[in-house]
Amino acid sequence: MRVLVVGGGGREHALCWALRRDAASAFSDDLTLFAAPGNPGTATLGTNLPIAATAVGELVAAAQQHAIDVTIIGPEAPLAAGLADRLRDAGRAVFGPSAAAARLESSKAFAKEVMRRAGVATAASATFVGMGPALEYIGGQAQPLVVKASGLAAGKGAVVCKTREEAVAVARAMLEGSLGEAGKEIVIEEFLQGEELSVLALTDGERVVILPPAQDHKRLGEGDTGPNTGGMGAYCPVGIATDDLLARARTEVFEPVLREVAALGTPYEGVLYAGLMILPDGTPSVLEFNARFGDPETQVLLPALLPGFSEHLIAIAQRAWNPLPTQQVLAHDRAAVTTVLAARGYPENPEKGVAIRLPDAAELGDDVLVFHAGTYRDNEGRLRSAGGRVLNVTGLGDTVAQAATVSRAAAERISFEGKTWRRDIAWREIQRAGAA
Ligand code: AMP
Repeated sequence: MRVLVVGGGGREHALCWALRRDAASAFSDDLTLFAAPGNPGTATLGTNLPIAATAVGELVAAAQQHAIDVTIIGPEAPLAAGLADRLRDAGRAVFGPSAAAARLESSKAFAKEVMRRAGVATAASATFVGMGPALEYIGGQAQPLVVKASGLAAGKGAVVCKTREEAVAVARAMLEGSLGEAGKEIVIEEFLQGEELSVLALTDGERVVILPPAQDHKRLGEGDTGPNTGGMGAYCPVGIATDDLLARARTEVFEPVLREVAALGTPYEGVLYAGLMILPDGTPSVLEFNARFGDPETQVLLPALLPGFSEHLIAIAQRAWNPLPTQQVLAHDRAAVTTVLAARGYPENPEKGVAIRLPDAAELGDDVLVFHAGTYRDNEGRLRSAGGRVLNVTGLGDTVAQAATVSRAAAERISFEGKTWRRDIAWREIQRAGAA
């Protein structure tokens, strides 16, 4: 089987790693793997094609040229640009939703409308394209308020505003173009109290299998302080994700939303990621949807799941998925913690081109996986930093605490100038387990 993974970060390296691990036992004795554009990590598992993840036409041509059986799309931008549609038009199997279904992520206004119609719990909100009505709405609401760009804004699109004045300023900036087209339509919503949890589910548009929840750390600094980032680490499993809570997420969030999207004639196929706020009374209320695997959640989810997981992705893409009715939540095998090693200056102004000393896998040990997120090889073949998040160091263990120790010890041994990282990934979970 010939599989193409679209994207070039840590998430895509983890997807390639899982496909390689699972191929022979789960779906193909003979896997030929491609990544576009990939990175030095995916290059050790398959062939990198030098095509940007958003170059839709070139990717479709490459899928034809290389006779790709299944394409797995990692990031949101190509989904929103219609890559899955174009590949399906060309007769190629794809894991990832159509652009219409991916609007659950690419248009928060659309997601809100779907949830309203499906009766799914989410913060009370209204959608605006002009400042006049937005001003009037803000004036009539309690503070704090959350102002969100409706479109894709690379994690910068949601601002919690303590006061109405701040909400007015943020709404005005977005509508005037501070986030480009993404903020020309905004959603203003009520602030919710509770604990956040990310729940991901595989679906063919109708059936749903929930993945073991993971949590990530968005803040740059230890103790969850400092600026927001794409994510400085993640862990799996999460104690608060009880069977009851996941059952509620299935029946109160995933099933009604997927039914509603299917009723529009655009069934959602792929992985749907729900960012939930668990309210004090236990209700899962939706903060946002993503139309793809999380990054860096994937770098703990895939190693923690039982081998064979990628078979589901292949079967959904080939429209031959047949999960058992009893298979409501996929079991995890081990606990996993990933620590992100970022460049100096991340997230504002990350340094690039710094040489990296990465011990080989044997030196780091069996329970360590290093996923490349932002690296490249220079003309002499030396590994250098290419982006804000450089490497994801995943540790495995029987418990989250063990996995965190393994991840931290390995992260310590990888060196590059200006290495920026947190030594406390999963602290909340470890504290919770200690108190139990
Ligand atoms: P989003 O991109 O919509 O997930 O928002 C990013 C982050 O902003 C979330 O992970 C929350 O921490 C916070 N957030 C978003 N919406 C709300 C809300 N209605 N109430 C409280 N916090 C929120």
